[in-house]
Amino acid sequence: MEFIPLTSPDIRDEDINAVVEVLKSGMLVQAQNVQDFEAGVATFTQTKNAIAVSNGTATLHLALVALGIGPGDEVIIPALSYVATANVVELVGATPVFVDVDTDTFNIEVAAIEAKITSKTKAIMPVHEFGLACDIEAVMKLAEKHGLPVIEDAACALGATQNGKHTGSFGIFGSFSFHPRKAVSSGEGGILTTSDDALAAKVRILRNHGVEMQHGKMEFVAAGFNYRMTDFQAALVNSQLKRLLKIIDYKNELAEVYFNEINHSGIKLPVVPADRNHTWQTFHVVLDSDFDRDKVITELREKGIGTNYGAQCIPAQQYYLKKYGLDSAKEFPNALRAFKSGLAIPIYEKLQKEQIRQIASVLNKLTR
Ligand SMILES: *Cc1c(COP(=O)(O)O)cnc(C)c1O
Repeated sequence: MEFIPLTSPDIRDEDINAVVEVLKSGMLVQAQNVQDFEAGVATFTQTKNAIAVSNGTATLHLALVALGIGPGDEVIIPALSYVATANVVELVGATPVFVDVDTDTFNIEVAAIEAKITSKTKAIMPVHEFGLACDIEAVMKLAEKHGLPVIEDAACALGATQNGKHTGSFGIFGSFSFHPRKAVSSGEGGILTTSDDALAAKVRILRNHGVEMQHGKMEFVAAGFNYRMTDFQAALVNSQLKRLLKIIDYKNELAEVYFNEINHSGIKLPVVPADRNHTWQTFHVVLDSDFDRDKVITELREKGIGTNYGAQCIPAQQYYLKKYGLDSAKEFPNALRAFKSGLAIPIYEKLQKEQIRQIASVLNKLTR
């Protein structure tokens, strides 16, 4: 069988043509397509504002800066995520405070958050891991009780909902990524959603060198970044966004095949709570601990299937381990186990159901 990579973006002729149009226009940065991108995502997520930026790490960084979070402050995040979630907290000089995740959904264990709240806590930044919303309603309830802002790291989760409400519309900020590893991609790209107009204005200024237009004149009112997005990137993602709901539906069909076909007693399948949909940015299984996961990845590659681990147990990564010395085995056992025994298997638009069946059949024959 032909090699099946873990992931591969579906860039179609219509997407390429949209990019070429912009290149020919000469308006390369933050023009009409960026405006359309922002309007489209704001409407889709039912938020008042969406601000396009250069990537999904810049979005998180801007959110923290806009909220004035800095040295001496603490931000609560899940122990299992892509490392960017913690890096941005470090980069503003604040301290990430880790909370373990749930073994079924890989999302933050909400019941464990309250014990980590101190007088220094300035925000909660949950992640909607692998394209599934965390229990964001419960996070919001807790945050409101303590008067804390919530920044949703929804990098992987455009289109994910809880009780029909979109991720990115619960917290003060929602952050999305459009890296090729996500459902639709601009190459590099990100967008920050917020229904707070004052914060949106602040983010727009910070995105663009601290420039504010005052009476038709450019004034430099803040020490800002250059986190702008190019217009051809926005054109690329706008073209794909027209297919987003179809992509999510199709991925759910593929996931259904995995659920029906994988029947190995040593492979734990993910769980989708009844009040949420899954957008399947990643189909993440966990192997029994007597498997050598890295050996399984090598073995599957030899059999023509690309897989990888799903996300990092962040406090166990070198930088964080050296700086904070936390014992992940004791404090974040679920995140550590997902990092060590988790396996992301292929799920994307270009795959056929027959290929998913083939992958499932190879997985069913794995031996310890
Ligand atoms: C992909 C991702 C990011 C970073 O997005 P980039 O666009 O690659 O910077 C942040 N958080 C999570 C959870 C992600 O999956």
